[in-house]
Amino acid sequence: MLNKKTIEDIDVKGKKVLVRCDFNVPLDREDKSVITDDRRITEALPTIKYLMEHGGRVILCSHIGKTKDKQSLAPVAKRLSELLNREVPFASDVIGEDAKAKADSLNDGDVMLLENVRLHPEEEANDPAFAKELASLAEVYVNDAFGTAHRAHASTAGVADYLPAVCGYLIQKEIGVMGDALNNPQRPFLAILGGAKVSSKIGVIENLLDKVDGLMIGGGMAYTFAKAQGGRIGKSLCEEDKLDLALSILKKAEEKGVKVYFPVDTICAEEIKADAETCVCPTNDIPDNLEGLDIGPESVKAFVDAIKEYKTIIWNGPVGYSELDIFANGTISVAKALAENKDAITIIGGGDSAAAVEKFGLSKEMTHVSTGGGASLEFMEGKVLPGIACLLDK
Ligand code: ADP
Ligand code: MG
Repeated sequence: MLNKKTIEDIDVKGKKVLVRCDFNVPLDREDKSVITDDRRITEALPTIKYLMEHGGRVILCSHIGKTKDKQSLAPVAKRLSELLNREVPFASDVIGEDAKAKADSLNDGDVMLLENVRLHPEEEANDPAFAKELASLAEVYVNDAFGTAHRAHASTAGVADYLPAVCGYLIQKEIGVMGDALNNPQRPFLAILGGAKVSSKIGVIENLLDKVDGLMIGGGMAYTFAKAQGGRIGKSLCEEDKLDLALSILKKAEEKGVKVYFPVDTICAEEIKADAETCVCPTNDIPDNLEGLDIGPESVKAFVDAIKEYKTIIWNGPVGYSELDIFANGTISVAKALAENKDAITIIGGGDSAAAVEKFGLSKEMTHVSTGGGASLEFMEGKVLPGIACLLDK
């Protein structure tokens, strides 16, 4: 599917290989040296191990947090050392003396990690001088950071101006699975879209409407659709300036013969809190003092039954305020229904949806849980990702 060169298309023996990973792992709020979820590190291991086993001199780099956080990647160096069962030297800078000295002392099959590339504001600015300096550490560039592939930063795209550039296994896997689903799906094909806002999902809805057979709408965005159709939605989330858009999406779906699943009932509460009193209301008739925060029992049943019928399912956005247990039933039920549909290709894109599936312990039951929230969203919008566009064509 992916027409870009991969690490298997190049010879890395004896070469210094700069590898951009997505080691932007969550850290414990109190103790910033503790990694609370190392999935992004473990997902990078196949590429790292391949390069080491093939005699590359591997120089890893990544960002962590925002530029203003000035967070060190030291906890990642430690975790990588544990996972690879060998000391991973950690440079205290990115393009400074320490980075250069450590890179020069690598032998074939060795690996090291540079400090957080976002310690330099030039990273996000995609500054050419910075990109060139970073590139000068190596002879080959491998991008395996799917999570930042939608950003044109110095280490995710800029360096490819100065080095032969290919992708690693993670990017290959992400693009392969999602690209196949989008371009050549097993039918019928269902998209489940939720989350807070219609506005953040417009691009995805529009791109997917041309491809899917079914569209399931849940989450906060459902109320904009309900209001657009004349419903009464109380204090529920609503984007007043998207009412016309909601109607045009429904019209387009009808014209294209896409079956739309809409939650008929809703779990409501007066406010968003863990011990709120809840009740069930029709989604188009919510009292003024209440807010819709999850799909109701009838909708859960309808959604779960419908999910069984599909062979490809892409899910982006929780169908309720799933951070709180009392509003998580819809999202858990949808996640379980996907997990139980073993005939289907099931793909989770979107950071919050992936986190929800992980929290319910169902990640392993899905065909693919994307490591890139924003990147998977842009990919599903049909956009070109700069971190992939910059790589050599096959
Ligand atoms: P993803 O990251 O999977 O793409 P989004 O970021 O679009 O998902 O949306 C996730 C957020 O939407 C969560 O914080 C969730 O609480 C919120 N959300 C879902 N349903 C509702 C609702 N009915 N009211 C308010 N917020 C909601
Ligand atoms: Mg999100």
